[in-house]
Amino acid sequence: MKAALIGVGQAGGKVTEALLAEDQRAEYGAVRGTLAVNTAKTDLEGLDIDTMLIGQERVKGHGVGADNELGAEVMTNDVREVMGGLDGVVDPHTEAIFVIAGLGGGTGSGGAPVLVKELQRVYEIPVYALGILPGRDEGGIYQANAGRSLKTLVREADSTLLVDNDAWRSTGDSVTEAFDEINSRIARRVGILLAAGENIEGVGESVVDSSEVINTLQSGEMSAIGFASAEAAADAGENINTITSTARKALLSGMSVPQTTEAGAALVVAAGESERVSRKGVEKARTWVEDETRSMQVRGGDFPLDSDKIAVLVLLAGISRSQRLQEFMDRAKEASKEVEAEQETENFQADELDDLI
Ligand code: GDP
Repeated sequence: MKAALIGVGQAGGKVTEALLAEDQRAEYGAVRGTLAVNTAKTDLEGLDIDTMLIGQERVKGHGVGADNELGAEVMTNDVREVMGGLDGVVDPHTEAIFVIAGLGGGTGSGGAPVLVKELQRVYEIPVYALGILPGRDEGGIYQANAGRSLKTLVREADSTLLVDNDAWRSTGDSVTEAFDEINSRIARRVGILLAAGENIEGVGESVVDSSEVINTLQSGEMSAIGFASAEAAADAGENINTITSTARKALLSGMSVPQTTEAGAALVVAAGESERVSRKGVEKARTWVEDETRSMQVRGGDFPLDSDKIAVLVLLAGISRSQRLQEFMDRAKEASKEVEAEQETENFQADELDDLI
């Protein structure tokens, strides 16, 4: 799928950069254009992709902190400038636009939904969001921001692909180390999803079509991806069980939103050398995912990859019943109440001070 990626905020910019780097490393050629948008000048400076600073009048390049209302306000004021900067990022061949953001902060959390809405108004192609949910240990304001942002994103985007920051993180990593690791995992996995449907030079033609990715995403408001890989034998006939067991691992322990097995629609992609990938294995894995997700709409296919391993990618769309998502929504709701109560106390104290003066 020929995709344009627009990162909003710090996480958005870094993940966009990682996705482009992976697309170039693997020579997929699926990422056609990228742009990182932020209110914080320093966050843009380290990035190796095109950038745009917004909200200079309002925040003077210093960012919006974790104030996502201010993030939304700044994006609303400068959205025309951002749209004007998309020449060469979105072109007539672009099949989908992804707006990428961490949902717990300020700029991405508030800005991404505003930008998605404007992109939907202007472009005919699907506009998706790739949203990063805060980990459980992140503070209340992050949970509250993410809850609010997700609600709006889901309304505006054709589908919101979610990655929980706790899902692909190794325990014991420092936060920064963990981010780099999570970002490269997102890049590898979403990279394959975007590349599905592209002709990879010298390796062969993909059996999955970009329309299958689009049709799967299109059938659910929220989506998640799972991934697992395993050593494979040189002969496809010996890899039937490898493909089914790897698909099982991807769905049961490799999802970007853990504890997500029910879905409205799904896509199973087995990636590896064509001679190693068993079509029968892919079909068996597809049927297993159909049973497990209780979905009647499960597509399957293979994707040529120059590797002696076989990787299985599972895309689930329509995941609102996920236990982990329900837990997140409860956490966000609770945190919202606490943040509001704190604000009321602050306002009350301010009123008291006013009375004193
Ligand atoms: P913004 O710049 O105001 O949009 O804020 P951030 O992008 O820093 O968003 C904060 C949220 O994103 C928090 O939940 C962080 O845990 C998460 N986050 C920040 N940087 C990264 C990153 O590089 N990778 C990932 N996966 N998450 C990040």
